[in-house]
Amino acid sequence: MKNDLVVDRESCTGCGMCMSICKRNCISLVKDDSAAVYPHIDAQKCVSCSECVKVCPSNSIKPEVFSLPRRVYVGWNTDNDIRKNAASGGIASAFYQCAFDNGWLATGARFTDEHILRMELFDKDGFTPAYRNSKYVFCETAEVYPEIAEKLREGRGVLFIGLPCHTAAVRALAERENCSEKLITCDIICHGVAPAEYLLQHIDAVAGDHKSVDRISFRDPDWETWSYMFTLRKKEKVIYKKRVKSGDTYQNGYHSALIYRENCYRCRYARPERIADITIGDFSGLGSRKPYTGERYNVSCIMVNTDKGERFFKAASKYLVYEERPADEALKVEKQLQHPSERTEAHNVFVREYAADRDFDKAVNKAIGSQLFSGKMYELFRIHEVKQLLRSVRRLVIKK
Ligand SMILES: Cc1cc2nc3c(=O)[nH]c(=O)nc-3n(C[C@H](O)[C@H](O)[C@H](O)COP(=O)(O)OP(=O)(O)OC[C@H]3O[C@@H](n4cnc5c(N)ncnc54)[C@H](O)[C@@H]3O)c2cc1C
Repeated sequence: MKNDLVVDRESCTGCGMCMSICKRNCISLVKDDSAAVYPHIDAQKCVSCSECVKVCPSNSIKPEVFSLPRRVYVGWNTDNDIRKNAASGGIASAFYQCAFDNGWLATGARFTDEHILRMELFDKDGFTPAYRNSKYVFCETAEVYPEIAEKLREGRGVLFIGLPCHTAAVRALAERENCSEKLITCDIICHGVAPAEYLLQHIDAVAGDHKSVDRISFRDPDWETWSYMFTLRKKEKVIYKKRVKSGDTYQNGYHSALIYRENCYRCRYARPERIADITIGDFSGLGSRKPYTGERYNVSCIMVNTDKGERFFKAASKYLVYEERPADEALKVEKQLQHPSERTEAHNVFVREYAADRDFDKAVNKAIGSQLFSGKMYELFRIHEVKQLLRSVRRLVIKK
């Protein structure tokens, strides 16, 4: 491959499969001007075997790997504590439980001590609650794929839970190595990921050195995960907290699709046909096609897409409360099940500004400063409202 690219920049998801497959170790993932990682080939070592190009899921993906959902459910975990600490209904944890019951391994994403999100493979004893909940940032996956392939070849079952592009990578590898029989895949509905560097720079900007922060939460369970409270903790003490639309540069940048990797705006997996056996996500359209009177908070959308998915869901269902829903409720309302996030002119401004100064907060301010300002006003208004309420209560107490 000498001086060629493994895949074009707009399609590269940064999964690192090319790096992990290269027998001559001549590929590394290197940050570009936008701080996103892309494969770099050492031309001195490369023997042009093209294995990296063949294994790249963006090059090798076939139309027949996609399946339309057969059944769609609203559901949640029967364990209230797990549910409270999960991003939506705690379905991922029910699936982990089911995998462990069968002696399988599973994957999950958790932060390293340096706050880099990494995908790991674990068994029941290796599981930690840190794998739960959504982390809205790029996840390093390269090292996990060879580990998964090794276990599958040994005949172990593996439950893979990850983003759709990660799922495409693991499927490509398992099919190539002819060991996909005991692989169950569950993809998470996704609107995009931002390079890890942005989050670290943002934490530096709002909380001092990011190394001094112990815990990052994008949907902190102490404020109900469905309220999307972003928090940073030092020694268990919350030192920073902001909801979406409250003027936080990272939250606003992420949820307005300003700061994603380039491939996210052309995502091949943001469509009704799914890449995984099962798909899980929040349930945006719940009740829009057929009356629904059940619970609405901390509930998930579960889409069962294949035979394997049906068998696995049946086995895991003892850990779930669930009800079947019309497929349209999920497919017609959740945008990420129709098309990728939109690449706006504001994104182009952000990319330009970031490349110039490598200052994340400054670049977001340049791109969507007015939105951030109205977010701050909204937050002030909320504080003002609470103060007014307290004053009224105090007046009432004094009168009595
Ligand atoms: C980046 C991202 C974008 C999302 N966008 C949408 C969306 O647009 N619409 C929607 O309906 N739902 C979206 N979700 C899904 C939703 O937030 C929940 O993750 C999902 O409903 C599963 O929740 P749970 O309660 O079942 O599991 P939880 O117990 O919360 O477990 C979450 C699972 O996701 C894994 N995970 C978390 N972050 C990452 C990551 N960055 N990369 C890989 N794996 C990760 C965890 O390891 C765990 O397996 C998104 C999630 C992520 C991580």
